[in-house]
Amino acid sequence: MSAPPVSARVRVPTSPPSSWGHPTFAPSGAFFKTLNARVNDHFAARGIAKRDDPRLYLKGLIILSWIAASWGTLVFAELSAPLAVLVGTSLALACTGAGFSIMHDGGHRAYSRHGWVNRWTFRVVDLLGASSYVWNYKHNVLHHTYANIDGFDDDIDTAVFARLSPAQPRRALHRFQHLYMWPLYGFIMPKWFLYDDWMTFVTGRVGYTTIPRPKGMELAVFFGGKLLFFTLALGVPLVFHGPLVVLGMFSFVMFVQGVVLSVVFQLAHCVTEVEFPAPAPEDGAMNADWAAHQLQTTADFAPNNRLLTWYVGGLNFQAVHHLFPRISHTHYPALAEIVRDTAREFGAPYHCVPTLRGALRSHYRHLRRLGSPACG
Ligand SMILES: [Zn+2]
Repeated sequence: MSAPPVSARVRVPTSPPSSWGHPTFAPSGAFFKTLNARVNDHFAARGIAKRDDPRLYLKGLIILSWIAASWGTLVFAELSAPLAVLVGTSLALACTGAGFSIMHDGGHRAYSRHGWVNRWTFRVVDLLGASSYVWNYKHNVLHHTYANIDGFDDDIDTAVFARLSPAQPRRALHRFQHLYMWPLYGFIMPKWFLYDDWMTFVTGRVGYTTIPRPKGMELAVFFGGKLLFFTLALGVPLVFHGPLVVLGMFSFVMFVQGVVLSVVFQLAHCVTEVEFPAPAPEDGAMNADWAAHQLQTTADFAPNNRLLTWYVGGLNFQAVHHLFPRISHTHYPALAEIVRDTAREFGAPYHCVPTLRGALRSHYRHLRRLGSPACG
């Protein structure tokens, strides 16, 4: 029996719930204009550039060396099982670190004023298994424009597995989502490179949004990236080790990456502090301008934890990142103070959870609340 057509097997929404297309925001108000001016003044007063920060290039070099050293040790050295697990964890953390601090800035064109530097730093994600082409639409376009809006922000779409937004239907299994989602996050990497990337490629859709198919160089990077990733992650290791050992370590590294990556992103948008605004059903209008929406739906966390800030590429300063995605993340801590003070002055929301532990607890409580039968 031949396989059913893709459309029969997979639910792909083909239109938004109404005829209005995409949500629309109110025109920018005085808050964002003032904030923009203050941020520009910050750079002008210090005579520094918003991108091409030497700290960013040094950091990129450190992280790529960390990946190469961990991968090389894992593949070429004779390691005991406990040591292999340790080096595997190191490789997973290094790869996720590259996602946070290299490809994320590159993808937002925040690494450099030179397009080619941004393009190639962004393509580090292809080396890590996921498609930069698909990430660009899912993250840079949809998530950053429509943060926490159900049906448009792919980051809060876990199919039936979790209820991350009050706009999503509650299912019986969600009662336990505050327990099972943490290990389930570990499967996001294979979900990306084995399913999501290919589904997006085949259907040309993300949620309610149609995206153009990759062409030319983008198409070459899509396939070349997958080939290179599987060669480095499975092909070369198989020359030196047995298939069970390779597959076991591959799964372990992917699992650690998935948990770390997902949790960091969830702490910024899926916590009790933030909102999940919905578009007006009749015309898709949001009740805020774009900047206020970003602040409503985003939380900073652990701003004084310098090690965390370094490792997660400033993603714990998510409010700054959402408002100024084209500025290198090394500037976020300084800009966060400007955002906080200006938001306070204009009565705009600015959410900040002081510690990592507090943010983890807040995500746990968010999952438990939305999964509870009393909330639905
Ligand atoms: Zn981003």
